[in-house]
Amino acid sequence: MAENNPDLHGPPDGVDEETEVKPVVAVVGRPNVGKSSLVNRIIGRREAVVEDVPGVTRDRVAYDASWQSQEFTLVDTGGWETGVSGLAGVVAGQAEFAARAADAILFVVDATVGTTDADEAVARVLRRSGKPVVLAANKVDGELQEADALALWNLGMGEPFPVSALHGRGTGDMLDAVAAVVPQTPEREEDEDEDAPRRIALVGRPNVGKSSLLNRIAGEDRVVVDATAGTTRDAVDEIVELGGKPWTFIDTAGIRRRFRALQGADYYATVRTSQALDRAEVAVVLMDVSEPLAEQDIRVVEQVVESGRALVLAFNKWDTLDDERRYYLEKEIDRQLSRVSWAPRVNISASTGRHVERLVPALETSLAGWDTRISTGRLNGWLKELVAATPPPVRGGKQPKILFATQAAARPPQFVLFTTGFLEDNYRRFIERRLREDFGFHGSPIKLTMRIRE
Ligand code: GDP
Repeated sequence: MAENNPDLHGPPDGVDEETEVKPVVAVVGRPNVGKSSLVNRIIGRREAVVEDVPGVTRDRVAYDASWQSQEFTLVDTGGWETGVSGLAGVVAGQAEFAARAADAILFVVDATVGTTDADEAVARVLRRSGKPVVLAANKVDGELQEADALALWNLGMGEPFPVSALHGRGTGDMLDAVAAVVPQTPEREEDEDEDAPRRIALVGRPNVGKSSLLNRIAGEDRVVVDATAGTTRDAVDEIVELGGKPWTFIDTAGIRRRFRALQGADYYATVRTSQALDRAEVAVVLMDVSEPLAEQDIRVVEQVVESGRALVLAFNKWDTLDDERRYYLEKEIDRQLSRVSWAPRVNISASTGRHVERLVPALETSLAGWDTRISTGRLNGWLKELVAATPPPVRGGKQPKILFATQAAARPPQFVLFTTGFLEDNYRRFIERRLREDFGFHGSPIKLTMRIRE
């Protein structure tokens, strides 16, 4: 329901601490201790380089990782600039960022070298942060170096876990320790039945031709169990074949029912639309090209965007269109529907059947965008290039940095940016536009929020 939509009441500026993201584990340590090797060892083959966007460097920041059933985002802090100089300072600065952004720290030390000033600077920062730390004593390739690992107790960071990033030795015990200190990954919702027909809400203001279109697609003589008059509860769905595939049309009784004679028909239409959207995956918003686009048409489109459903715009009664009306229609679309310029459009006639079959590829495009998941590695490789080419504008004398990003959810795609400062609306819109250009997301709303770690 629109009333419950967090978008309407949430912070308007895109700051978001609520969205569930996987726990973040930051890998910290001075250069050459083997951070990247350890990261590679942990993620294994999970993030194959073959899925790279062409032209994107391999220099990434964050990755999807998991151990047993615990999932987390693994962040390599080596690439973060800190604005301080001197090795110990730089490394400590990175550790400070890491401690703020992460739920837990994997602190990597080279056991064969022992504790250095830079390691001690990091240890001080981490102790102050209060975040859980797992100490990895790396380069313990065999039993000979086990004693070196023990010497790292002197850092005061608890038990050193002897590991070999090169050979994989000891990483299981180390990951057990990491999994034990991060917040548990919430139980994943059961994946929905892959083969179930996808659910469509056919919506639009009264008289645009919804029942005509449904009749055109489903046939008029279908027996529909009627809903109780005046209530909005007994919705009836129909499975309809379209383009050789079954689709579930939500609340077909509501579409066929005539509410417009009733008082408050407008209100019922809004409630029905919102209830249909609740259960839908994709919405077809039907509009009537024989009349100017109305405020009510735009409101229905906005209802769909706010519901987070995939969207197809269908312009009906195309048979009535003459050149003059067509000219104005295009202006109206440019002016009033620019916010959803990413949605596929089809021009149809429910009366003649013109191009009705084109709804199918449009539905499939929108659903594919809605379903899309970008791996954390790929997302951050892409983001790093984008930000290097076009950095966020300075605000109040400070340059906000994007530390890393993660896709918190699909259906609809939802992204969280971890930043050191506020990103202007314009810049967030720029990122959204580029996400769409480079990864698709045709026909799907995208949510982009930030978590500020000042
Ligand atoms: P609903 O309220 O959205 O379900 O709209 P209806 O399906 O009841 O259609 C409203 C009116 O528009 C009816 O008189 C239909 O015959 C007419 N209509 C529907 N689709 C078309 C179309 O493609 N072309 C034309 N010319 N008229 C249409």
